[in-house]
Amino acid sequence: MAAATPLKPKREDTMPRSSTIRYTCECGTEFTSPIYQTVNVTLEPHLLYQLLAGLLNIAICPNCGRKTAAALPFVYHDMTRGLFAYVHPEADADEELRERLLERLRAIYDEAVAESERILDQRQRASSASATPQPRLRHHTPGGELAARLEPDTPPMQVIFGVENLIALVDSLLEPDERLGRAALSARGTEPVARERILTLARALAERLDLQIETEGVGQDFTIWLYGPRSRVSLLNQ
Ligand SMILES: [Zn+2]
Repeated sequence: MAAATPLKPKREDTMPRSSTIRYTCECGTEFTSPIYQTVNVTLEPHLLYQLLAGLLNIAICPNCGRKTAAALPFVYHDMTRGLFAYVHPEADADEELRERLLERLRAIYDEAVAESERILDQRQRASSASATPQPRLRHHTPGGELAARLEPDTPPMQVIFGVENLIALVDSLLEPDERLGRAALSARGTEPVARERILTLARALAERLDLQIETEGVGQDFTIWLYGPRSRVSLLNQ
């Protein structure tokens, strides 16, 4: 049986953006949740607010609301604000783990640079007659922090330990209007039918204002949060 010849892979194929993970909650409910390996907030701005709200790569049980952190590393890319980072979930990673991780990233970096050089070299030879200048690789020697410039517009890659440290850094780069805003639609003490109605209303509002929704608690403690950039959340109060 002949194996199918793979088509030339697109960028998305070589670097998975997210995968679906199956969870079994302590309450017995089975559910799936997307976990991102690559978070590009320029292409998917809502992920920026998921991060700021502490909900990125957090699985929430649809039955009891219990939250579980995926605790997996991911690559964070903000093309507008020039932030490109490898985020390791452990904020208190010990020296040995940090060293091991940096070594591995350096090896990946060296491989990627060698591969890019090979491709650029081939292209240069193929188009040596053309007058179009070819992109040049800028070399950085990875030292204490890892630096990668594989594409002209890619800022150096930072390594960040702990999602909370990424959140602090990202928040510091935002304009006051872009910072996280939250508004609660309380459904406490209402009947299930009324809660469903409030949730439907919240979804419509969220869609209209391009905001995200988080539900908290179940039964009598049910609360709906709308969150996103402060400038848009403030429209709810008008
Ligand atoms: Zn549960």
